[in-house]
Amino acid sequence: MPGHTDQTLRPFLWRAARMFADTEIVSRTHAGVSRYDYATYEDRTARLANALDSIGIERGERVGTFCWNHHRHFETYFGVPSSGAQLHTINPLLPDEHVQYIVSNAEDRIVFVDPSLAETLADAAADDPDSFASVAQFVVMGDAEAVPDVSLDPLTDYESFVGDESTEYDWPLLSGDQPAGMCYTSGTTGQPKGVEYTQEMLWAHTMATITPQGLDIDAGDVVMPVVPMFHVNAWGMPFTTTAVGAKHVYPGPSPDPADLAGLIEAEEVTLTAGVPTVWIGLLEYLEEEEADLSSLERIVIGGSAAPKSMIERFDDLGIEVAHAWGMTEMSPIGSVAHLKPGMESWDAGDRYGKRAKQGLMVPGLEFQVIDDDGEEVPWNGEDFGELWIRGPWVTTEYYERPEANEEDFHEGWLKTGDVVTVDPEGYIQIVDRAKDVIKSGGEWISSVELENELMAHDDVAEATVIGVPHERWQERPVAFVVPGEGADRDSLGDELLEGIEAEYPKWWRPDDVLFIDEVPKTATGKFDKKVLREEYGDSFVEGRVPEEAAPESD
Ligand code: ADP
Repeated sequence: MPGHTDQTLRPFLWRAARMFADTEIVSRTHAGVSRYDYATYEDRTARLANALDSIGIERGERVGTFCWNHHRHFETYFGVPSSGAQLHTINPLLPDEHVQYIVSNAEDRIVFVDPSLAETLADAAADDPDSFASVAQFVVMGDAEAVPDVSLDPLTDYESFVGDESTEYDWPLLSGDQPAGMCYTSGTTGQPKGVEYTQEMLWAHTMATITPQGLDIDAGDVVMPVVPMFHVNAWGMPFTTTAVGAKHVYPGPSPDPADLAGLIEAEEVTLTAGVPTVWIGLLEYLEEEEADLSSLERIVIGGSAAPKSMIERFDDLGIEVAHAWGMTEMSPIGSVAHLKPGMESWDAGDRYGKRAKQGLMVPGLEFQVIDDDGEEVPWNGEDFGELWIRGPWVTTEYYERPEANEEDFHEGWLKTGDVVTVDPEGYIQIVDRAKDVIKSGGEWISSVELENELMAHDDVAEATVIGVPHERWQERPVAFVVPGEGADRDSLGDELLEGIEAEYPKWWRPDDVLFIDEVPKTATGKFDKKVLREEYGDSFVEGRVPEEAAPESD
């Protein structure tokens, strides 16, 4: 008789708690730095699982979290799914109406909330109590003293909630298709869409991403996920770090660059991960302040394209950037821009060219790139189309959203909405989000490439490019630039445009460069082009494109 257990998360912790019992889990919290080991961690997950049982959380019911990255949030990562319940991480930076929709759609039975976020959650609940009707308990992440005076009812604190429970728990043998996690995509249009992660999806994602072809994590690493635990499982790092038995470091509520540099130095972090905006902040900080980051070997950068200039700057500091691409729908990691054997000896320009791409699919995934006519595009690094993907950790549907399923999936393939090229070596490069591609006079312009070019300039802190409506050319690019400290705005605009003219077809030249103080960001820290389109889109309808910058095809 074939005898095997299904692919589930529990054995990862079973192993870490026995073979790496003394390895530390460190966390910056509201109350200072917390530090304990895997053995204690396992006991606390058992207490949590017992506490969930005590209040009647049944298998498959959803447990919400509204929290930053810290040890208690990490306790829910194993305690909840391994007990058979489903961990639903909620992004606290979303607008109230999205939080209300998400909590009611997921029917969360209990919500864990950080002290500093309790008021935000209470406001959302007070504004639309019906959407929180399923919630039977709110738990503040701290001890009794951490509980703020907010109108969440019933409300208790985490340490009291788990305090009297046993450290013994009869962990069930779950089936691989048991839902273990859930996260909503931040939905740039319409309501957020729920993605469910089963036990086997998270298992497969963990096994693939610990490999050298993934994020290459092992027991000697000290891993600090800056990418939030409220979004797509912090790229799976709490699971991968546990699977290999490495030390965890959690940066706590709203960490700033000084907090991050301090933790890297004090805890000897070797591997960290986050979106490019976080690293823009850290690089700026390092220009002003002294910090010893010598322990740091690698940074995983993803969520948005890692500019080539950023990869180079970290290389100069002796820190390797692993540029990764993924999506909420994919648990989330899809590809990582590792060099293939032999490429190390290429000249720097070619090497950085590859590493700034989104890279090679990690083993286990398959993809195809489909053009507007429904044909697969050749791998020549030039032709582009929409990236379709499938694999063990890629979802095949959204939670209760048949209309979105119809649009975003095709015969088991996820249609990513990312427009890509694939080069002959198999590296994918995102040229744009389907909805961000600028179509001008029948030609297309990649907003991503223009942004990379602009951000490579020393005097540019951040830059983004949107297509604005244009009577004659349908759309024209306009650049929004946040100048760096001390930049000379009068000359910067012209310099940037000249730089683009030198590199790209003349119709790619933005019609205007506008200086702004900050690029608006989405709840996951990406540039929010929707806000810029709403704010500025109409002011360009007259069209100001000089004739000589017109697309050649017209
Ligand atoms: P949301 O923005 O809805 O929170 P995700 O976090 O799932 O969604 O983001 C997925 C999208 O982010 C991808 O489809 C892609 O457009 C973009 N993205 C992720 N990683 C990268 C990367 N390394 N380079 C460029 N774009 C990326």
